[in-house]
This record gives sequence, C-alpha cells and structure tokens, in this order.
Amino acid sequence: MKRLLLLVLSLACADLSLAQNQETDGPIIRNLYNQALTQQQGYKWLKELTDIGPRFAGTAQANQAVFRFKEILDSLGFETQLQEVTVPVWQRGPQETAAYSFGTGALKIGLNITALGGSVPTPEEGLKGEVVEITNFDQLDSVDLEGKIAFFNIPMDPTFIRTFYAYGSAVTQRWAGAVEASKRGAIGVVIRSLSSSINDYPHTGSMTYEGAPYKIPAAALSTKGAEELSKALATSGGSLRLEYTIQSAWQDSTTSYNLIADLPGTEKPNEYVLIGGHIDSWDLGTGAHDDGAGSMHAMHAAHLLKSQNLGLKRTLRLVFFMNEEFGLTGAKAYARQAKADGIKHVIAFESDGGGFSPRGISMVAPDTVVAQIRALRPLLEPYGIHRFGVGGAGADINQIAAEDVVLIGMRPDSHRYFEVHHSARDVFENVNARELEMGSATMAAFLYLLDKYDIVVQP
Ligand SMILES: [Zn+2]
Repeated sequence: MKRLLLLVLSLACADLSLAQNQETDGPIIRNLYNQALTQQQGYKWLKELTDIGPRFAGTAQANQAVFRFKEILDSLGFETQLQEVTVPVWQRGPQETAAYSFGTGALKIGLNITALGGSVPTPEEGLKGEVVEITNFDQLDSVDLEGKIAFFNIPMDPTFIRTFYAYGSAVTQRWAGAVEASKRGAIGVVIRSLSSSINDYPHTGSMTYEGAPYKIPAAALSTKGAEELSKALATSGGSLRLEYTIQSAWQDSTTSYNLIADLPGTEKPNEYVLIGGHIDSWDLGTGAHDDGAGSMHAMHAAHLLKSQNLGLKRTLRLVFFMNEEFGLTGAKAYARQAKADGIKHVIAFESDGGGFSPRGISMVAPDTVVAQIRALRPLLEPYGIHRFGVGGAGADINQIAAEDVVLIGMRPDSHRYFEVHHSARDVFENVNARELEMGSATMAAFLYLLDKYDIVVQP
C-alpha cells in the first residue's frame, strides 16, 4: 500500500513538473522556432557560406570561409579565436574520364567517374584493364584480381530506415577497396558510389592505403554507371575492358584553422557547452548539407539564444571544425589543445547529418542523463522531434569523448541525404529553408533546456 502511494505521488509530481514545464518553457521554445522560421538567418548565412564555393581543406576557399565567418561572429558579439590546424593537401585533377568496351578496338562507352579523396593518379594515358566485379565482401577471396581492375559494386541496403546504417554497411568498399584489391594483385579499383538512389553523379569520399602493398588509383562510378557496367559485364562473357583517367596529386601540407566563438556563461564560465559542425566540405559541391547546414544550425542556435537573452549558465562555445572530411585533423587539434589548456567540456552537440527536417537526436551519455533528456520529449514533440536514441553522436566531437561529457548528435531525416552527400549535388539549392531552420531552433531549444535543468553528468 505504501509503495502504491509512493508511485501515485511520484506520478503526480512528474505530471505537475511537466505541466509547469509546458507553461514556462513552452512559450520560450515556441519563440525560438518563431524567430528561426521568420528570420531564416541560418539560411542566409548558408547562402553566404556556399557562395564562397567548395571548401576542401587546404584550399584558399576553406580559409576564406573561416575568416569571413570570424568577422560575422565578431560583429555579433562572440569572443572569437582561430586555432591553427595542419591539413594534408590533395587535389583532384581537371579531367576525370572512364569508358568501357567489349574487347580491344570496340566502341567505347563513357561513364561518369570521380577520384576518391587521397587516390594516386592513373598514368597520363589512363589505366586500362579487364574488369572483375565484386558484389559482396565475402567474394573477395574467390575472385582472381591479378593484373585486373577491381569493381566493387555493393549497393547501400535500401531496407534500412536510417540510411546512415546502410552507408555504414557499404562504405568499406570506398575506404578499404584499394587495400583489399592491391593485396590480391589488382592494378586499379573502381567502386559504386555510396548513393541511395540511381543517379549519374559520382560521389567521392575518403579512402586509405594503409596496409596496401602498393598504391592503385581509386575512383567512384555513379550508381547509374555501376549498374550499367554490371549489366555489360553480364552480357560480355567476362571480356569487358575498362579504362579510366584521374589526375589527382598530393602536395605539402598547409596551415588552416578551426574557428572558435564563445558566449561566456553567467554562472559557470569555466564549464563549456560545445556546439558545432565542420566548415570544410568535399570539392565536388559546395557542402551545403555536409556540413554547411550543421555549421549553420550551431551558429544560428547560438545567435537565437543570444538574441532572446537566454544566456546559458555555462560558456557556449561554437566550433567550426576544419577538415573533418579528409582526416579529422581539425577536431584532433582541437582536442589536443583543449586537453593542454584544461578545458572542461560538459556537453558537446554536433550537427553533421544534413539540413533536412530534424527528427531528434542521438546521445552518448550515462543512463541517468539519457533518462533526463528523454523526459524533455513532450516539449519538443510538437516540432516533430521524437527520436531520442542512444549511440554515436558525431565524428568531430568524438575526439573529446569522456565519461563526464554528454555527447549529442542532431538526427535529421536521412532519406535524401545520400542522394547529395559528397557529390556535385550538395549545393545550396538542395537545402530547404524551413527544414534547415527547424534544425537551428531544435538545437537552441535543447541547449536552453539542458542548461535550465542542469542536465549534465553530475560529479
Ligand atoms: Zn560531414
């Protein structure tokens, strides 16, 4: 009986605190969304960012973006600093071509292709060879790749609801395709682009030669091209020849920057709530979704809190990480420096999943904190925020992972993300202003609530 009474009491208390939350926090959160959707300031900044062009680490445009956004953040009253980062320099060549033919002398049929980031070039006259298709990783030990071009054609599994899992299960062909193929004597490797739809845009991304006996040119065909090559192979009786040219080059590493912008906390300025995204992008598009959108989510969230006088108790630190795409060097440099300086992070919230409608978050945190964050759900559900998952959060903030840091990743709708990801289609025109700004306001709302209710790992 006593236990039942306690249960009823605690339920009543939970209801009461929720009712109070709705009354006091509801309008504050509503105002954040109202301002974001009305002013669309994040969308305007995204236009300015993408107008600079592709921001591949090591390029002048990447640095230009950092300098320009430092100016803007200075003018908004943030305390800004640049943090030096040494970045590797790799450049795509001006010409990338591919064609297949049924035997020598036969008609050549062109395919769209692009070098994977970090690949060595082909010989000037192109690389030519017989093609061997690999449709799953288990096949690797039974195919003869000696002197041939390996063609990894492993589609993203369409049955995953969250496309990031499909990406994760297929990305090995891109990351390690050159290693596995060269171990078996291949002279080159081409992969099927990691795209969730059939389209004619090749998608690039990072790759490795670590563990490879020698370096072979690695490139991605569009999904449409991969399907076509696969069909041609099936009808060729196994005598299909592929030739491709990529002109990429490695150069000496150079200096770039992380951009850090602080809004000092009102009560605990020595504790940091980090928010951010990566300011660099791949070179084929202008990184509007990846990760211009995430960077603008964070910048606009900070601006929303500031302009509505919702100053946090702890210092809100916005970080635009440099070079997430090509080795995470910015995030690693940030983590090293933060450790040396004894910076105490309590929360790190990253957005690097695109600018589509936000659906929720995923967290890396102790169970008690996860439960506290899940209790916020009724306040955010009116805005379509329903996912409160546990698992990864983000590649950049992962570098400062620790038991006493709550890691949070923004989780937008992912159905269209891999149609644009790392391709020439990742441009401003493919970002929807309302969807983007829902993300900005969502991040701001979480920051406000986490701060107000002190949802951190208690010492
Ligand atoms: Zn990204």
